[in-house]
Amino acid sequence: MIHIKNYINGELIEPLNQEYLDNYNPATGKVYSYIPDSTEEDIEKAYQSAREAFPSWSKTTREERFRILNKIADLIEQNLKELAEAESTDNGKPVKLARKVDIPRASSNIRFFATAILHYASESHDMNGVAINYTLRKPIGVVGCVSPWNLPLYLFTWKIAPALAAGNTVVAKPSEITPMTAYLFSKLCIEAGLPKGVLNIVHGLGAKVGSAITKHKGIKAISFTGGTATGAEIAKVAAPMFKKLSLELGGKNPNIIFADCNFEEALRTTVMSSFANQGQICLCGSRIFVQRPIYEKFKTAFVEKTNKLKVGDPKDATTNLGALVSKEHLKKVVSYIRLAKEEGGTILTGGEQVHLEGELSEGNYLRPTIIEGLTFDCRTNQEEIFGPVVTIMPFETEEEVLLYANSTKYGLAATVWTQDVTRANRVASKLDSGIVWVNCWLVRDLRTPFGGVKSSGVGREGGFNALNFFTEPTNVCIKL
Ligand code: NAD
Repeated sequence: MIHIKNYINGELIEPLNQEYLDNYNPATGKVYSYIPDSTEEDIEKAYQSAREAFPSWSKTTREERFRILNKIADLIEQNLKELAEAESTDNGKPVKLARKVDIPRASSNIRFFATAILHYASESHDMNGVAINYTLRKPIGVVGCVSPWNLPLYLFTWKIAPALAAGNTVVAKPSEITPMTAYLFSKLCIEAGLPKGVLNIVHGLGAKVGSAITKHKGIKAISFTGGTATGAEIAKVAAPMFKKLSLELGGKNPNIIFADCNFEEALRTTVMSSFANQGQICLCGSRIFVQRPIYEKFKTAFVEKTNKLKVGDPKDATTNLGALVSKEHLKKVVSYIRLAKEEGGTILTGGEQVHLEGELSEGNYLRPTIIEGLTFDCRTNQEEIFGPVVTIMPFETEEEVLLYANSTKYGLAATVWTQDVTRANRVASKLDSGIVWVNCWLVRDLRTPFGGVKSSGVGREGGFNALNFFTEPTNVCIKL
C-alpha cells in the first residue's frame, strides 16, 4: 500500500517521526493507503525550507513564475485521468465529476493566477500636483495554506496558485481525509521544475499540523478553507500575532424559486445544486424555498427527479451520487436526518443509508434526502449539514423569503430563480450573501471576489483580490 510522503525542500520525504495514519477509501470503507502523521517538527522543517527559498523565488521574474505555474497546469491536464481516479478513491465522489469539474478547475486555478500576475498592477494617486503616491506590492514571505476535503485539489490549488504567483513561498496542508491528490500534485511540481522549498506540503491532522502552521511566528499570512468552528479557532490564535487571514468557511445556502421561473431549468439545476458531490460543496443550496403557486408542482417533480438519481460505485459512469467522505461524516449527516424528524419534518424521499454489494458493502452511501414541514428557524434549517440532505418549504412574498433566507448565521451563496429582472436585482441586493446566482448555479468567473459574509468568512479571494491578499502594500508619497 502507498505511503504518502511529505513534500519538503523539493523532496518527497517521510515524516520525521516516521508515523502514519490510515487513509480510507469511502467507497469501500477500507484502508487503502497511509498518510504521514506529521508534527510541529515537520512544519518547522517545511518553514525553514520555505524561508530559504523566499529570497530567490520572490525575485524571479513574473514571466518565470508564469512559465513554471503553466507547466504545472499542463501536467495536471496530461494526468487528468489518474488524478480524477485518485480524487474519487480518496473522496468517494464519482470519477466523472472529478474528471469534469475538480481536476480541470484545479488546472484553471493555476493558469488563471499564472496569467493574472503578468497583468497585476499597483496604483498611483496624484494629489493635485502637491505630491504623488504610488503603492508598491511586495510578496509577504512564507505563507500558510490549509484546505478541506470536499474539493481536494481544486481548493488546494485555489490557495497555492495566487500565493506562489505573487512571489511567496508556501507551507501547505491538505485535509488529512483526502491527501492523495495533493501528494500526486507534489510529484508534478517536481516534474515541472518548481525550485526546491518554494512549495512545501505537510500531511497530517488539523490539530497538530494545521495548528502548527497557525501558531508559527514566521508564517505571516494564512489562507484557510474549512469549517466555521475551525476558522474561529485559527482566528483566535493568529489574531494576536497580526497575521493576515483569509477564511472561507461554512454555509447554509438558500435556493429561492419564484413562481415565474423557468420551471424546467430551475428544477434541473436544483437537483444538481442539492446533490452534486453528495451535497458536499460549500455552495450547494440546502434550503429550498418555493413560491406557493408552484410549490406542489415543483415539490412533486423534484422528488420524482431525485428518485431517479443513482447512488452507487463512484467508478461507474452511470452513478450520480458516490460515497460520503467518511464514516464520521455519514454519522453526522444521518444524525441531522434524525433531528429533522424530531423537529417535525417529513421525509419526502431518501433518509436511509444505501447498502451496496460486494467490496462496496462497507461504503458510506446515503440516499439523497428531501425534508418538508420544518420551520425556517429550526436547527435543521439553521446548521450546516454538508451532505445530500435538503429542506423544502413554501413562501408567499419576497419579504417573507428574504426573512427566511437571511435568518442563518451564514452568508456564503444564494440562488434566485425568476424571469423578472427587476425582482432578481432587488432580491440579490437584499440577500446577506457573498455570491448570488440568478437563474444558474456554480457558474464561476475567477476574476470575481469569492467568499462569504457573516460566519461564512472574511477576506475575499479571487481575481486580483487574491494577489492583494498575498502581497503587502507600501505606499510611497513623493512631494512634487
Ligand atoms: P475542517 O475545518 O474540519 O478542516 C479544514 C482543514 O483545516 C483541514 O485541512 C483540517 O485538517 C484543518 N484543521 C482542522 N483543525 C485545525 C486547526 N485547529 N488549526 C488549523 N487547521 C485545522 O473542515 P472540513 O470538514 O475539512 O471541510 C468542510 C467545511 O469546509 C464545511 O464547513 C464547508 O462548508 C467548508 N468549505 C467552505 C468553502 C468556502 O469556500 N467557503 C469551500 C469548501 C468547504
